[in-house]
Amino acid sequence: MQMIECTTCAGSGILADNKGWEYTCSDCFGDGKINPNHEPRSTKAQSGNEDNQLKN
Ligand SMILES: [Zn+2]
Repeated sequence: MQMIECTTCAGSGILADNKGWEYTCSDCFGDGKINPNHEPRSTKAQSGNEDNQLKN
């Protein structure tokens, strides 16, 4: 199985937003590589954003 470099994170497996927060790439799940045979354009909605409230 051939893996290609994840273009989302440039192969690092880590994404950083403009506030400097780093988090695991959601496309390659931190591997830095993706399987080209796997259709990446999944439209699965990610749940779990309910904990987004500001504390304090
Ligand atoms: Zn990635």
